[in-house]
Amino acid sequence: MTQPVSRAKIDIQGLSKEFGSFTALRPTNLQIPKGEFLTLLGPSGSGKTTLLQMVAGLLDPTRGKLVVDGQDWTFRPVNERGVGLVFQHYALFPHMTVEENVAFPLKMRKVTGEELRRRVVETLDKVQLGPFTHRFPRELSGGQQQRVALARCFVFRPEIILMDEPLGALDKALRESMQLEIRGLHREFGTTLIYVTHDQEEALVMSDRICVMNHAQVEQIGTPHEIYADPETIFAASFIGHSNLLKGKLVGKSDGGLHMLDTPVGRLAGKLRARDKHAKDLVLVVRPEQLRVGPSPDARHNELSATLRDVVYVGSENRLLLTLADGTEISASDKSDPSDLPKQGEEICFHWRSERARIVS
Ligand code: ATP
Repeated sequence: MTQPVSRAKIDIQGLSKEFGSFTALRPTNLQIPKGEFLTLLGPSGSGKTTLLQMVAGLLDPTRGKLVVDGQDWTFRPVNERGVGLVFQHYALFPHMTVEENVAFPLKMRKVTGEELRRRVVETLDKVQLGPFTHRFPRELSGGQQQRVALARCFVFRPEIILMDEPLGALDKALRESMQLEIRGLHREFGTTLIYVTHDQEEALVMSDRICVMNHAQVEQIGTPHEIYADPETIFAASFIGHSNLLKGKLVGKSDGGLHMLDTPVGRLAGKLRARDKHAKDLVLVVRPEQLRVGPSPDARHNELSATLRDVVYVGSENRLLLTLADGTEISASDKSDPSDLPKQGEEICFHWRSERARIVS
């Protein structure tokens, strides 16, 4: 029987990695279509770099298979993969100028003469390094050095680029502008890109899809919006954005088809995934921006009361810090004028649409 041909550019089939008795990555399946920007997001030690290095050919898997363009790449040597790599530490050649650093991968591929010059100049312009072509890496700032590393990677137009925390060493403002720059380069070249970060905002801003990792395994894969609006696990809900988490036990379904959870502060409704039907420890997740101050206009909505502990002004909105009857602390975001808000210490009532809440395990 013939195997179905995978249409994915990169098809990760049950790849796993063990170091002695330690599992760095449990068997992982992941299909990455051509041209996608996929981010591996998770805390330190969750297995992101391990997975990336197996795709790069820098690490052999313990089990599983890596298929690229329908070909078995599992043990293909790194120099035969032709992927572009960018790491946190720029790894530029210190004795070469910016121009020579960027020309290097083209020379390795026997590109010469006018074609070589044109592509180097074009790529340096794209990363705004035109005026720095004759400088050495030591004469550049961290951000400029990382731009050279990006140019050196994009210049040979690899079909696949792998980046491991490339902006980790830069300050916040520079990181944010470089995020948009990398996104722009990715769009322009149509590269398939796998990007590793532990920064959730970076992942939300840059990615077509995010693969959330924790404890050596994938927790959830989805678009930034899916992951934010529809977290499938407690970890995904708490690692990405702010979440209010209310523990409880399942007690059945509501009229509207939602599930009901008995929590220490009352019965609340939310959406439950079929696979969690028999889970023991469930948590209702609701984002702060779903909460509205005041009693609910609809009996099907969730409504609770709480003590207003503090109001924090964060520029675009107010963050209301609330304490529920059982001591659980939650937060609500609110855009009203601070003078219209209840006062600290007051007991307030608030509500949210039940279908906006997720019940996860
Ligand atoms: P970080 O964001 O800190 O880089 P990560 O999610 O990329 O974390 P990995 O580098 O993939 O994590 O490491 C996953 C786990 O495997 C870690 O606990 C790490 O200590 C372990 N590990 C990685 N390389 C080795 C090795 N060569 N020998 C033993 N254990 C290793």
